[in-house]
Amino acid sequence: MYKRQFTQRMAIDLGTANTVIIKEGKIVIDQPSYITMNRKTEKIEWVGSEAYRRVGKENNDLLTVRPLRDGVVADLNATEHMIRGFIQMARTKKSLFPSALKVVVSVPSGSTDVELRAVRDAAEKAGASEVYLIMEPMAAAIGIGLDVLEPKGNMIVDIGGGTTEIAVISLGGIVSNKSIKVAGDEFTNDIVDYMKAKHQIRIGEPTAEEIKKNVGSALPELEAGPDDYTVIGQDLASVLPKTITVSYREIAGCLEKSVQKIETAISNALDATAPELYADIFKDGVYLSGGGAMLKGLDKRLQDKFQIPFHVAEDPLYAVAKGTHIVLENSNTYSQLFK
Ligand code: ADP
Ligand code: MG
Repeated sequence: MYKRQFTQRMAIDLGTANTVIIKEGKIVIDQPSYITMNRKTEKIEWVGSEAYRRVGKENNDLLTVRPLRDGVVADLNATEHMIRGFIQMARTKKSLFPSALKVVVSVPSGSTDVELRAVRDAAEKAGASEVYLIMEPMAAAIGIGLDVLEPKGNMIVDIGGGTTEIAVISLGGIVSNKSIKVAGDEFTNDIVDYMKAKHQIRIGEPTAEEIKKNVGSALPELEAGPDDYTVIGQDLASVLPKTITVSYREIAGCLEKSVQKIETAISNALDATAPELYADIFKDGVYLSGGGAMLKGLDKRLQDKFQIPFHVAEDPLYAVAKGTHIVLENSNTYSQLFK
């Protein structure tokens, strides 16, 4: 008997900090890449925002983890559960016919074959009948709107949570790729450490993130700098609450070392780029994506240092997901990019 099968399609950006799923052009999942497991029963209690809400507030039986914290699939089992959880959330439930599922997943470019296999298996176990993988910098470039199939050098610097990925792309391939473990998380740690050392207060990661988003800066002088920002922490000595006001200038100083590490990595990547590709990059500029690209003054700082234009992607947090979705919807054009 004739049976119509409807195929659901999902583009999945499996980030170290955030997972984004786009379906039929709409963002259906945009949640922190966290899961909470029950240590005793090994049951997965929560995935995504629900897990994140409980970070640092678990009891002894519960453990909340970020399976991709360092940009690689560090914890295969946890990663698998997370992908399955997100795919289940994104799936259309009410359907008359059982539907097939096709997914394209973007993965960190430093992933090993074992890690790629794990991501593929997880998607299959979650019910995907067709699974394609694409490297994150490639997806970011496509999401930004660059023509990656042309014989032309494009440089992408994606500053996520766990890693900064620097890639040069030409003719549909990654010519060179470098991944360093200095990115958004490191900035956040710098702020936690700084508040302890300089102001003698203890703050949690979420508070440090807020400081970073409000007064995080890569330059000690900004044209229209943000107002000072006030936080409450716990005084190290008295254990009493203490209010501290910080300026972007102060935070620029505290992030300086980490920003320098990113600068050095970009410098090395530019140095290793063949002259013809470098000429293209010099002309069109370097593209910044990922949440870390929103650090104030970063584009200007890099532009001044390298004498090359640096452009922040339109929606830095969604560039990879957008590119993954474009590849999903135009699989024929981009089939050579799949891993
Ligand atoms: P990933 O792809 O690794 O999941 P994302 O691209 O989603 O990472 O970026 C997440 C990182 O971006 C986090 O460390 C977050 O704190 C940081 N971030 C988000 N917004 C800002 C902002 N306005 N300024 C600086 N950093 C930001
Ligand atoms: Mg990312």
